[in-house]
Amino acid sequence: MSMPMKERITSVDRQRTWEGEIPFHYEYTAGVSGERFLRGLQRGKILVPKCGNCGRSYLPPRAYCTNCFLEITSYVELKPTGRVSALAESHVDFQGRRSKPRTFAFVTFAGVTGGLVHFAEGKGLRIGSSVRAKFKPAAKRKGTLLDIETFVKT
Ligand SMILES: [Zn+2]
Repeated sequence: MSMPMKERITSVDRQRTWEGEIPFHYEYTAGVSGERFLRGLQRGKILVPKCGNCGRSYLPPRAYCTNCFLEITSYVELKPTGRVSALAESHVDFQGRRSKPRTFAFVTFAGVTGGLVHFAEGKGLRIGSSVRAKFKPAAKRKGTLLDIETFVKT
Protein backbone atom coordinates (compact mmCIF):
# COMPACT_ATOMS: atom_id res chain seq x y z
CA MET A 1 0.00 0.00 0.00
CA SER A 2 1.35 3.38 -0.91
CA MET A 3 -1.76 5.50 -0.71
CA PRO A 4 -1.40 8.99 0.62
CA MET A 5 -2.47 9.53 4.21
CA LYS A 6 -5.80 11.04 3.36
CA GLU A 7 -7.07 8.01 1.48
CA ARG A 8 -5.67 5.66 4.07
CA ILE A 9 -7.46 7.45 6.91
CA THR A 10 -10.66 7.50 4.93
CA SER A 11 -10.46 3.78 4.39
CA VAL A 12 -9.63 3.12 8.04
CA ASP A 13 -12.58 5.22 9.03
CA ARG A 14 -14.80 3.19 6.77
CA GLN A 15 -13.57 -0.21 7.87
CA ARG A 16 -13.15 0.41 11.58
CA THR A 17 -10.81 -2.55 11.74
CA TRP A 18 -7.29 -3.06 10.52
CA GLU A 19 -5.58 -6.15 9.30
CA GLY A 20 -1.90 -6.93 9.26
CA GLU A 21 0.77 -4.31 9.30
CA ILE A 22 -0.04 -0.72 8.70
CA PRO A 23 2.34 1.38 6.65
CA PHE A 24 2.67 4.80 8.18
CA HIS A 25 4.16 7.36 5.90
CA TYR A 26 2.80 10.54 7.25
CA GLU A 27 3.16 13.20 4.67
CA TYR A 28 0.80 16.05 5.14
CA THR A 29 1.27 17.87 1.90
CA ALA A 30 -2.30 19.04 1.99
CA GLY A 31 -1.54 22.69 1.31
CA VAL A 32 -2.77 25.49 3.50
CA SER A 33 -5.06 23.44 5.73
CA GLY A 34 -2.38 20.83 6.42
CA GLU A 35 0.15 23.52 7.05
CA ARG A 36 -1.98 25.26 9.68
CA PHE A 37 -2.61 21.94 11.37
CA LEU A 38 1.12 21.15 11.51
CA ARG A 39 2.04 24.62 12.72
CA GLY A 40 -0.55 24.17 15.43
CA LEU A 41 1.07 20.91 16.51
CA GLN A 42 4.38 22.70 16.76
CA ARG A 43 2.73 25.07 19.24
CA GLY A 44 1.23 22.15 21.15
CA LYS A 45 -2.27 22.60 19.78
CA ILE A 46 -4.55 20.45 17.67
CA LEU A 47 -6.03 22.95 15.22
CA VAL A 48 -8.76 21.75 12.90
CA PRO A 49 -10.59 23.49 10.08
CA LYS A 50 -14.22 24.26 10.94
CA CYS A 51 -16.78 24.98 8.25
CA GLY A 52 -18.32 28.41 8.75
CA ASN A 53 -21.56 27.20 7.19
CA CYS A 54 -22.39 23.83 8.79
CA GLY A 55 -19.87 23.81 11.63
CA ARG A 56 -18.23 20.52 10.74
CA SER A 57 -14.56 20.01 11.54
CA TYR A 58 -12.23 17.61 9.78
CA LEU A 59 -9.22 15.44 10.52
CA PRO A 60 -7.02 15.09 8.61
CA PRO A 61 -7.55 18.76 7.89
CA ARG A 62 -9.15 19.64 4.59
CA ALA A 63 -9.54 22.89 2.73
CA TYR A 64 -13.13 22.27 1.64
CA CYS A 65 -16.17 21.11 3.55
CA THR A 66 -17.39 17.88 1.99
CA ASN A 67 -20.86 18.61 3.34
CA CYS A 68 -21.28 22.11 1.89
CA PHE A 69 -18.59 22.17 -0.81
CA LEU A 70 -17.44 25.49 0.58
CA GLU A 71 -13.91 26.54 1.36
CA ILE A 72 -13.04 26.40 5.04
CA THR A 73 -11.04 29.34 6.28
CA SER A 74 -11.43 29.22 10.05
CA TYR A 75 -9.77 26.91 12.54
CA VAL A 76 -10.59 25.88 16.08
CA GLU A 77 -8.42 24.34 18.73
CA LEU A 78 -9.52 20.90 19.89
CA LYS A 79 -9.27 19.70 23.43
CA PRO A 80 -6.41 17.18 23.26
CA THR A 81 -8.63 14.37 24.50
CA GLY A 82 -10.16 11.90 22.09
CA ARG A 83 -11.50 8.38 21.95
CA VAL A 84 -9.97 5.19 20.53
CA SER A 85 -12.07 4.04 17.59
CA ALA A 86 -9.72 1.31 16.35
CA LEU A 87 -6.53 -0.33 17.54
CA ALA A 88 -3.75 -2.20 15.80
CA GLU A 89 -0.29 -3.52 16.49
CA SER A 90 2.39 -2.64 14.01
CA HIS A 91 6.01 -3.62 13.52
CA VAL A 92 6.52 -0.68 11.20
CA ASP A 93 7.14 2.83 12.40
CA PHE A 94 5.97 6.11 10.89
CA GLN A 95 8.88 6.12 8.47
CA GLY A 96 8.02 2.64 7.24
CA ARG A 97 10.98 1.01 9.01
CA ARG A 98 10.65 -2.13 11.04
CA SER A 99 10.48 -1.47 14.76
CA LYS A 100 9.46 -3.15 17.97
CA PRO A 101 5.73 -3.80 18.00
CA ARG A 102 3.76 -0.75 18.98
CA THR A 103 0.11 -0.05 19.41
CA PHE A 104 -1.51 2.37 17.04
CA ALA A 105 -4.92 3.88 17.53
CA PHE A 106 -7.38 5.64 15.32
CA VAL A 107 -8.33 8.48 17.64
CA THR A 108 -11.55 10.40 17.09
CA PHE A 109 -12.63 13.69 18.65
CA ALA A 110 -16.04 14.99 19.60
CA GLY A 111 -17.57 16.99 16.78
CA VAL A 112 -14.86 16.09 14.28
CA THR A 113 -15.31 14.08 11.09
CA GLY A 114 -12.40 11.64 10.73
CA GLY A 115 -9.56 11.31 13.21
CA LEU A 116 -5.86 10.74 13.67
CA VAL A 117 -3.78 7.58 13.51
CA HIS A 118 -1.11 7.65 16.17
CA PHE A 119 0.73 5.69 18.85
CA ALA A 120 -1.38 4.94 21.91
CA GLU A 121 -0.53 3.49 25.28
CA GLY A 122 -1.85 2.91 28.76
CA LYS A 123 -2.96 0.04 30.91
CA GLY A 124 -6.20 -1.49 29.72
CA LEU A 125 -6.22 0.48 26.49
CA ARG A 126 -9.08 -0.68 24.32
CA ILE A 127 -11.56 0.54 21.75
CA GLY A 128 -13.64 3.20 23.44
CA SER A 129 -10.86 4.32 25.79
CA SER A 130 -10.42 8.03 26.36
CA VAL A 131 -6.92 9.15 25.41
CA ARG A 132 -5.03 12.40 25.66
CA ALA A 133 -2.38 13.71 23.29
CA LYS A 134 1.05 13.91 24.87
CA PHE A 135 3.15 16.46 23.04
CA LYS A 136 6.92 16.38 22.80
CA PRO A 137 8.78 19.16 24.58
CA ALA A 138 8.46 22.38 22.57
CA ALA A 139 12.13 22.45 21.60
CA LYS A 140 11.82 19.02 19.96
CA ARG A 141 8.75 19.76 17.86
CA LYS A 142 9.24 20.06 14.12
CA GLY A 143 5.82 20.75 12.72
CA THR A 144 4.99 17.12 12.01
CA LEU A 145 2.42 14.69 13.33
CA LEU A 146 5.18 13.29 15.52
CA ASP A 147 5.14 16.49 17.54
CA ILE A 148 2.55 14.46 19.39
CA GLU A 149 4.64 11.78 21.09
CA THR A 150 1.75 9.45 21.77
CA PHE A 151 -1.81 9.29 23.01
CA VAL A 152 -2.07 8.18 26.63
CA LYS A 153 -5.12 6.56 28.19
CA THR A 154 -6.73 8.99 30.63
ZN1 LIG B 1 -19.97 22.75 5.84
